[in-house]
Amino acid sequence: MEVTFASRMNSVGLSMIRQIMQKAHNCTNLGIGEPQFLTPAVARQAAQKFIEGGPVLYTPNAGIEKLREAIIKYHGCPPGYSACVTNGSQEALFDLLFSIVDGGDEVLLPDPGYPAYTTIVEMAGGTPVTYPLPAESGFQLDICNIKSLLNKKTKAIIVNSPSNPTGQVLTDTSLVELSALLEEHRIIAISDEIYSELYYNGKRPLSLSQHYPNTIILSGISKMASMTGWRIGWACGPEKLLSKVVVMHQYTSSCASSLAQQAAIAVLTPEGMSAVARRRQLLTENRDRVVEWVVTNWNHHTHEPQGAFYFMLPVSYLGRPSLEVASELLKDQVATIPGGAFGSQGEGFLRISFATNPEELRLGLRRLKRGLDRLQSNLS
Ligand code: PMP
Repeated sequence: MEVTFASRMNSVGLSMIRQIMQKAHNCTNLGIGEPQFLTPAVARQAAQKFIEGGPVLYTPNAGIEKLREAIIKYHGCPPGYSACVTNGSQEALFDLLFSIVDGGDEVLLPDPGYPAYTTIVEMAGGTPVTYPLPAESGFQLDICNIKSLLNKKTKAIIVNSPSNPTGQVLTDTSLVELSALLEEHRIIAISDEIYSELYYNGKRPLSLSQHYPNTIILSGISKMASMTGWRIGWACGPEKLLSKVVVMHQYTSSCASSLAQQAAIAVLTPEGMSAVARRRQLLTENRDRVVEWVVTNWNHHTHEPQGAFYFMLPVSYLGRPSLEVASELLKDQVATIPGGAFGSQGEGFLRISFATNPEELRLGLRRLKRGLDRLQSNLS
C-alpha cells in the first residue's frame, strides 16, 4: 500500500544521535545523556505507597495540584504564573511550540543546540532561525547578533542553560542584556532549564524568568533526579500563555502518569532535593575526571563544562566531519555524538556524555583516546 505522509513530516527523520546509537553495539556509552543512578529512595517509596493505597487514575489535565504548587515554589515564580505537568519536558516543548507557532513565524534557536528544537518548530509550520554560540567565545551568546536576527516575524526565542550539548551556562550579564532586548521586542522567551540542578561552580544558574516575565520555563525530574524513564516534565509560565499549553496537552496525552507525578512530588521535597545534591556531587566527580583526562592528554582546559553532563571535545585536527569521526570510533567500541548533530557550530567537536558510572567513564575515555590516536596516525 502506498502511504502519503503529511507534509509536516517531510523533514522529520531519526536524529543523528539515534543513528549513531543504533550502530553502537558492544560500545561504552559516552553518547546518550542519561544518568545511570537509581531513582531516589524517597521517590520510589512515594510511588509504592501510592499504588498500594488505591486505584491509579487519571489526574487533572494540568497535573496534581500539589505538584503544580511545588513546581511554582521550586522555580520561585511570581504571582500569576501557572504550571502544566507533561510527559517529560519534551512534551512540554511540543505542546508549547504547537500552541504559539503559526506558519511563517520565526523562532530563534541556539546553534549548537538540542536538535528537537529545530524539528518541532518546523513541524509546527514555523521557521527555525539559529543564533550562534561559537566555541571561540566559550559557547556564549552575542547579544548584537541576536538583535540583528529579530524582526516582525520573530515569535519566540529558546535559551538552554546549562546547555545540551556544550555544558556551558549563560552568564548573568548575557541574561540581563537579553531580557532588556526581549522587553523591547515583546517576544516570548522559552527557557529550557532541564539541566539547571546539574551545575559545577557552586551556584544554581540564574533563570531568564528572573529578569524577563514573559518567559516560559521548561524543566522536569529527568536529569536532576536521574529519572528519565518516569517521564515527568513541565512548562511553567504566565497563566495566559499556559492556558493553551494545557489544552494541547489534553489532546496529546490527557495527563502525565499519576504514579510518576507522586514520585515527582517527593523529588521536590527537601529530602528529594538532598538526593539531587548527592547525584550532582557524583556528576561533579565525573566532570573532574573528564577535565583531568583532557588536560593530561592535550594539555588544555578548553570549554570546561559548567553544568549538564556534556563536554565538547575538539576533533577538527583530524580533518574529517564529526559524523565520520564518531562512526569510526564505534570500531574502538566507544559511542560519542558528532557535534554536527547539534548544528553547524557544533561541527569539529564530539559531544561526550559523562553521565555514567566512573568505571564505564574511565574505560570509555581510554577507548576514545586509543581511537583518536588511531585516526590521527592514519593522517600521517
Ligand atoms: N531539553 C534538553 C536540552 C534535553 O537535552 C532533553 C533530553 N535530552 C530534553 C529537553 C527532554 O528531556 P525530558 O523529556 O526527559 O524532560
